[in-house]
Amino acid sequence: MRNSSLSLLRTGIRRIRPLPRPIACHTTKCASRWSSTSASANSERKWSTPLAKTLAEAITTTGPISVAAYMRQCLTHPEGGYYTRQTTSGQDQFGTKGDFVTSPEISQFFGELVGIWLYAEWLAQGRKEKVQIIEVGPGRGTLMDDVLRTISSFKAFTKSIDAIYLIEASPYLQKQQAKLLSGTEDLDKSAIGLTAPCKYITGCKIQWCEDIRLVPKEETLSPFILAHEFFDALPIHVFQNIAQSSIPASSTIITPTGPIKPKHGVSTPQHTWHELVVSPTSPYSDISRTTSSPSSKGEKLDFELTVSKTPTPHSLYLPKMSNRYKKLENTPDAIIEISPESLAYISDFAVRIGGGNPKPSTASVPSTSSSQLPANQDNFVKAQPSGAALILDYGPLDTIPANTLRGIQSHTTVSPFSSPGLVDLSADVDFLALADSALDASPGVEVHGPVEQSFFLSTMGIKERADRLLKGAKDEETRTRLETGWKRLIDRGPNGMGKTYKAMAIVPYNEKGPIRRPIGFGGHIVGA
Ligand code: SAH
Repeated sequence: MRNSSLSLLRTGIRRIRPLPRPIACHTTKCASRWSSTSASANSERKWSTPLAKTLAEAITTTGPISVAAYMRQCLTHPEGGYYTRQTTSGQDQFGTKGDFVTSPEISQFFGELVGIWLYAEWLAQGRKEKVQIIEVGPGRGTLMDDVLRTISSFKAFTKSIDAIYLIEASPYLQKQQAKLLSGTEDLDKSAIGLTAPCKYITGCKIQWCEDIRLVPKEETLSPFILAHEFFDALPIHVFQNIAQSSIPASSTIITPTGPIKPKHGVSTPQHTWHELVVSPTSPYSDISRTTSSPSSKGEKLDFELTVSKTPTPHSLYLPKMSNRYKKLENTPDAIIEISPESLAYISDFAVRIGGGNPKPSTASVPSTSSSQLPANQDNFVKAQPSGAALILDYGPLDTIPANTLRGIQSHTTVSPFSSPGLVDLSADVDFLALADSALDASPGVEVHGPVEQSFFLSTMGIKERADRLLKGAKDEETRTRLETGWKRLIDRGPNGMGKTYKAMAIVPYNEKGPIRRPIGFGGHIVGA
């Protein structure tokens, strides 16, 4: 799959966000390297972007930073972040002219079926009266546009919608979303960010904010949450299991009664999780760090990954959070990726739907930035769980992602250390970790999936929907566009998105009844 996604690019078919071609990050076991990069060397040195210089200077002061800190800066730094910077000549990151294309951008069927999914869940839960529609990371707003257009035909559902919330880090993308969904870029200030009326639902407001914790959480509210290609953009920490012989192999211990060999043998290596950290490449080295991208071969990169010799605050607790990581403790050189921010987000979803857990969740995660944000409300009570979350993204079904950090630029996979801030960074989503965290955070939810996107969309009726629209297609060009679009979404081959992308759902746990599978996850429409 990984190689073929590259060959897809080479043949010039640039329709989807190119997928998992892991960058063989160059790790060197010399965390001390960074200190050779003195402040003056940094200022003389040519950096590929202003953000690279800012990061290098910060590292000179603080020491190497985690991959998570690097990713966060590269993606959402207020000035030079990939999503948050102002793009030139009105060009955004998406589409054939940008860096990648996502499912909602490929075909309207995607958003339409997601809209139907929300409606079906609302029916199955007995038509809740006060609904919030929430999307995290809406990009251009295309998915929400298709969702709202679709559900606007179901008047009873739209009447129940209290407000729509879009969680978006980029002020420029917020404006673009507003243009599409409200027909204006003129947004009013609100208590949590910005607001404008929704063009599809009379009297309903769209609210923009930067963090889901700002979205009101009330017992009577039923949140219906969408996350499409959001979790892959959240920062990951990377750890490698490295053997350390605490006692040199040849040593014997001298005791008063004579020399002895330690009981378990001197060479038994101890394995410890070491965090991989980011530091500038040496300014004096002329080693070109080749990348997996043919176009950037030989490019000298600003940064490299090194293994931290000493424990970091994250290496001391994150790898201990799950038995899945513990099982790899005896696998030399195993690599694991953990995204605490993703776990915090999914826990928040679960608590909104099912209420909090009286016992503190293991996934409560250090707050990211702003101190005015409400604290994680683990004790939020919800007598009757309601709402749902639908997560659509790429990643393995049940294994822990390893070596999946990648850069994407102009539909090509590049090094994650190439042109910081100008390159999209993403990593595979650990669906099982998300599921565990959701269940851990709330006793009132159950998790379905992950299932492959092809299964989800096929059982949602994508073929039937496509057949109906194709019959009415006004010309050959429209017909071809519709046809190639829907097929690509479910294609399980190397050029399609049906297998690599997965769907996972969080719904209320019904302790009294049998498990009700949502549609798209093996269930049928109920309550219609
Ligand atoms: N869902 C869209 C866009 C995916 S790209 C689609 O599938 O087309 C990721 C989106 O998440 C972008 O809108 C980006 O600006 C936003 N984003 C990334 N990191 C974020 C963060 N930490 N908080 C809020 N939004 C973020």
